[in-house]
Amino acid sequence: LVAALENVEQTYIMVKPDGVQRGLVGEIISRFEKKGFKLTGLKLFQCPRELAEEHYKDLKAKSFFPKLIEYITSGPVVCMAWEGVGVVASARKLIGSTNPLQAEPGTIRGDLAVQTGRNVVHGSDSPENGNREIALWFKEGEIIQWTPTQEPWLI
Ligand code: ADP
Ligand code: MG
Repeated sequence: LVAALENVEQTYIMVKPDGVQRGLVGEIISRFEKKGFKLTGLKLFQCPRELAEEHYKDLKAKSFFPKLIEYITSGPVVCMAWEGVGVVASARKLIGSTNPLQAEPGTIRGDLAVQTGRNVVHGSDSPENGNREIALWFKEGEIIQWTPTQEPWLI
């Protein structure tokens, strides 16, 4: 078997403070694991204000920006990097629409959230932003490029 090496992308996924506090971390990680993507980074992290502002800098002019920064810095988040073919767009599909009331059942936001300002999870919107956000949220050494071993774990 030849691995599909083309279109391998990286995306930044984050369980927001409401998701952590509601005990949804395992559930959310599980959706990406079951889909078949590869986890390359994972940590619990208290986000400083400056980082939140940099992450969401494209939304600086929006009226909800101060509330958004308050929300993201209100408690620890779970930062993740996921790798895979088409992972950026696929993760956005698994996450669902920004407004959870418009998100389809079966998506993370469609199943687990109600309000836009409490929509439990973030996912990068392009491969460029995936790379940008992973570099922003993780230090060198925190991202691990790994391949499965040949160990027959079940025997
Ligand atoms: P997404 O997270 O789906 O990519 P955006 O990039 O448009 O959505 O917005 C980033 C985050 O800002 C959203 O996930 C949500 O938490 C928050 N947000 C967006 N629009 C609103 C709004 N109208 N009111 C409050 N919060 C908002
Ligand atoms: Mg966005």
